[in-house]
Amino acid sequence: MSADDPFVPAAAAGIHRLAIPTPFAVGRVNVYLVEDEPLTLVDAGPNSGTSFDELQRGVAGLGRSLEDIELVILTHQHIDHLGLVSLVAARSGADVAAIDAAVPFVESFSAEAQADDDFARDVMLRHGIPPEVVTALQSVSEAFRAWGARVEVTRVLRDGEELRLRDRTFHVHHRPGHSPSDTVFHDRERRILIAADHLLGHISSNPLITRPRDGSVERPQALVAYIESLRKTREMDVELVLPGHGDPITDHRALIDERLALHRRRADKIHRLISERPRTAYEIAQALWGDIAVTQAYLTLSEVLGHIDVLLNAGRLREVDRDGVSVFEALD
Ligand SMILES: [Zn+2]
Repeated sequence: MSADDPFVPAAAAGIHRLAIPTPFAVGRVNVYLVEDEPLTLVDAGPNSGTSFDELQRGVAGLGRSLEDIELVILTHQHIDHLGLVSLVAARSGADVAAIDAAVPFVESFSAEAQADDDFARDVMLRHGIPPEVVTALQSVSEAFRAWGARVEVTRVLRDGEELRLRDRTFHVHHRPGHSPSDTVFHDRERRILIAADHLLGHISSNPLITRPRDGSVERPQALVAYIESLRKTREMDVELVLPGHGDPITDHRALIDERLALHRRRADKIHRLISERPRTAYEIAQALWGDIAVTQAYLTLSEVLGHIDVLLNAGRLREVDRDGVSVFEALD
């Protein structure tokens, strides 16, 4: 590791970053080996031979082996982070810790992922995405599911609890928004926050609309939840944020302010588009980003619907049904 590597301060605190390849547009995922007792791995990467080999090599490069790992902590339910967790746990006998909100999803991964896809299909059709795009995206998503895997959680974490290792204590905080199970781990003493995809430096985290677990058919307000989570994180005393992708963040308040400002600008822009004429969420996504790649269709739709939720909550829009498709009209 060269002196100007941005992960040097983390390594000095015993937290070693391993960048594991993924087949997804986001690129590599950050996995962290925490040199402590128990020897802890934070996330594991997607379920593929290449990723497994790199993980194994990375851990060996730090003078350890996968068999030495005693605890695997899962930051959230997305497959680029969880795919290899059960394989690592099977190899090492490690405990697997995850927030309570993640448990039902990861423990019945296949059925839950299928139910999520069904929910996403309904959301896409309801918001004007053409059926052929929806069908194509459904098969992409089904194929990607192979990079995930069921995880058995042996230690259920709760919001606000302390996770004690020999040399450090992580305060566990639930920060839903990017996914319903996003969790951050705060070492108050060292002012380090392991934040995974809750806060990324180089891209803004997508507030993905995910099927509500309480059986309700209402569309969950992912961006509204995410903004609330960002505000909580903004108040934390942190010097170094370790994200799930890309480089560490050293000024989380400035970055969060930037993200909140971006969301305000985008909501205003969407409001202007709807003021010109009533539009579906899909039409808004096209107006903002042009023709969207199939694989990005649900991400961009989630982004647009997130802002629409903000505008609906503020009483600035109305949602009307036109033959089973939602159209949004401006009220101010
Ligand atoms: Zn990720």
